[in-house]
Amino acid sequence: MKYNFSAGPAILPKEVMEEAGKAAINFNNSGLSILEISHRSKDFIAVMDQAVQLVKDLLSLSSDYEVIFISGGASSQFFMVPMNFLDENGKAAYVDSGVWANKAIKEAKLFGQVDVVASSKDENYSYIPKGFSVDSQNTYLHLTSNNTIYGTQLHHFPETEVPLIADMSSDIFSRAFDVNKFDLIYAGAQKNMGPAGTTLVIVKKSALGKVRRSIPSMLKYETHIDGGSMYNTPPVFPIYVSMLTMQWLKNNGGIEAIQKINEEKAALLYNEIDRNPLFVGTARKEDRSNMNVCFLLKDSSQEPAFNEMCKSAGCVGLAGHRSVGGFRASIYNAMPKDAIQVLVDIMREFERKNG
Ligand SMILES: *Cc1c(COP(=O)(O)O)cnc(C)c1O
Repeated sequence: MKYNFSAGPAILPKEVMEEAGKAAINFNNSGLSILEISHRSKDFIAVMDQAVQLVKDLLSLSSDYEVIFISGGASSQFFMVPMNFLDENGKAAYVDSGVWANKAIKEAKLFGQVDVVASSKDENYSYIPKGFSVDSQNTYLHLTSNNTIYGTQLHHFPETEVPLIADMSSDIFSRAFDVNKFDLIYAGAQKNMGPAGTTLVIVKKSALGKVRRSIPSMLKYETHIDGGSMYNTPPVFPIYVSMLTMQWLKNNGGIEAIQKINEEKAALLYNEIDRNPLFVGTARKEDRSNMNVCFLLKDSSQEPAFNEMCKSAGCVGLAGHRSVGGFRASIYNAMPKDAIQVLVDIMREFERKNG
């Protein structure tokens, strides 16, 4: 038995993996693998329709929003967003909350003026910048809702006059929020939605078509909206597995139910980090992420011994990102509470042996 705490690609529900495995051999009893059928076949069109409908259902999207599944990862959204929204002499506001936010800022500068309205770089991104103001001249405010590397999460989206655009790669479908504040939301699938290979984009259609530049077809949101995410061959299997994962979430009570479980799971682990004298959390308490829990051993020379205990209990993927060090337990939707209890028990045992 392995407990997969990896940050991404990350854990998926066991039932989803079993179903996906079957479909890779014989999809819908067609005698064909989902890997070899046409994306224009009736069976795959049904998968795509269902995937889009599940996003709409899970997030209660109004008809103002379009849902597409494209390729290129969240990293391509770093440039597609400004390319499609920001004019050359326009201005966009960005919050610098870590590595991913920085990459988004770098790309946006290729297309227009960027106003970095706040940053938490001064304390190695261990908190969420708050209390900044955003000039209403900005076309949008770009946020990273969950900073996968640092284990910080925006628990309240800022109130601004300008529309929000967010990278929700590592906490999409983990909690309820007011979608109507957003012009666009994007998420690479491989953290909390499915396997690597597709990116979910949710976009307010009325916000598109305002920039003056010419945009290559493949990089234009309208192309994929008009083509029903099938302008070109879509990433069939990642979309299928994402659909199954969303179906699993819906069958288990949807966002409301998973949010409650996610809060309990995170509390279980953070309580142990705070109680156990050998460990310390790295993120400011009020900004702690319910998806990525980052912590250190106060005495870093104990790391190999703790790693050994984790490994022999089947806990994998716990190494912290190199820019933070220590440990990071990614506890996405698919991670059962029992697995977190296993980790907590190891931490207690480690304290008994080494405290
Ligand atoms: C992983 C991650 C990315 C990068 O995603 P790719 O799909 O690999 O391009 C971007 N933003 C956040 C918040 C992430 O966690």
